[in-house]
Amino acid sequence: MIGYDQVLAICRSDPESAARMLCELSRELDALRKEIAALQAENATLRERVQTLEERIAKDSHNSHKPPSSDGLAKPKPKSLRPPSNRPSGGQPGHTGHTLHMVENPDRTVRHTVERCTGCGVCVDECPVLAITLVRHVARVDAARCTGCGQCVEACPSGAISLA
Ligand code: SF4
Ligand code: SF4
Repeated sequence: MIGYDQVLAICRSDPESAARMLCELSRELDALRKEIAALQAENATLRERVQTLEERIAKDSHNSHKPPSSDGLAKPKPKSLRPPSNRPSGGQPGHTGHTLHMVENPDRTVRHTVERCTGCGVCVDECPVLAITLVRHVARVDAARCTGCGQCVEACPSGAISLA
């Protein structure tokens, strides 16, 4: 940067060079002003765009029409609308429970026989009520769970299981 004294010395010693220098500086100043104006306009546009995007990101199911499923991991846990109670959860003292008990003479009995079992486990995957387990690589049917659907019989590749 040229100092005041240097400029004064140039003006006194060489006025023509000083005039040319002033004209050149004036042109550069004009160009810089235009460039600044363009950058300011671009900056304003970008600020507006950032604000629009930030507003869009800040929207969720609470402040827009978006469904709760779109809230992602930021979704708060659902809260029960019930008022708090001093009583413990579950059955209250004095309440007689009801459950299904085993009976001596059931209405229907399904007996399974497993023969020639290779222990492939296909029937275990097929049973819809998880009544079959492999014990020492042989299928065993829990008759209490079995509904008699017959899927294991159809699925067994060895024909080793049957309903009787
Ligand atoms: S008959 Fe049906 S319910 Fe019974 S063991 Fe086979 S797949 Fe399971
Ligand atoms: S599908 Fe048949 S062979 Fe395979 S484990 Fe069951 S009963 Fe045994």
